[in-house]
Amino acid sequence: MYRTDRQRIQNEIGSELDQWSKVGWVAKFFWRDDDAVTDTPALRRLFQVARDKGITVALAVIPEQADAALARLLTTETCCVWQHGWNHRWYERGEFGDGRPLEAMKYDALSGQRRMDQLFGPQGWQRIFVPPFHEIAMPFKALLPVLGYLGVSAGVQRRMDQLFGPQGWQRIFVPPFHEIAMPFKALLSVLGYLGVSAGVPPTPRIEGVPELNAFDFMDWKAKKLLPESEIYALILEELKSRRAGSIPAARPIGLLTHHLVMDEQDWSVLSDLFSLLQSHEASHVCSAFEVFASPKLQDAILDGFPH
Ligand SMILES: [Zn+2]
Repeated sequence: MYRTDRQRIQNEIGSELDQWSKVGWVAKFFWRDDDAVTDTPALRRLFQVARDKGITVALAVIPEQADAALARLLTTETCCVWQHGWNHRWYERGEFGDGRPLEAMKYDALSGQRRMDQLFGPQGWQRIFVPPFHEIAMPFKALLPVLGYLGVSAGVQRRMDQLFGPQGWQRIFVPPFHEIAMPFKALLSVLGYLGVSAGVPPTPRIEGVPELNAFDFMDWKAKKLLPESEIYALILEELKSRRAGSIPAARPIGLLTHHLVMDEQDWSVLSDLFSLLQSHEASHVCSAFEVFASPKLQDAILDGFPH
């Protein structure tokens, strides 16, 4: 991204947050990183960023592959550990997606819990279920409270680059979860969008199952972070959607990374992003421990809004 483009979109985020300040609102963010299994230089790099920025990350651990070296490292670092399925194997629609018998998924989730308890101790992790590949079947999602989970955090994948080409980002609004409230749709032209593009709906929310998803910032074809311009554009959209009322303003915006496929440039993009988000009074990067635990945030997670 050219310096001027970067400056422009950073200024836009700044002006948007100024609007939040005017009404006394604070935009909330949280950081989740997936696929932790062992102590690696990449994981240590992640913790370096987390320490530098003073952020408590939610680390989604794959129980079956996780080892004692990971458990040892986590005793020296501050993070909130979540359960990332069982062994991260791909089936027809992911490990916990449609197409697998419910009993098999239940068995795998409980095997995962037992392994997490052994590695980190029952108090050493938070019972949040992170489905591998962002796929979760409705019958399994409905079972989560019975299985002892406090909530679920899946992912939202952006396909803007595939739709419009990396240089060709237009002001087309792609509603997360492909759902859009009519009053918000009516506002799109006022907000400067040229149009709206929705797709196949992922699984709907279920009452009694707190759900807080995160945007997958990886470009899986290129095996690195999405271009900085797309990440900033997405955050700007999310902020605007909240201010326009189509998403509860208190609902945190989840930022999802995958430390094992990030290079040094990616870490620097991420650090700069956190610096930007931490530099405005109307923006707060929450500790991952807070996002499912705070009753105020729970309201924003539980209500009937689609995203
Ligand atoms: Zn994963």
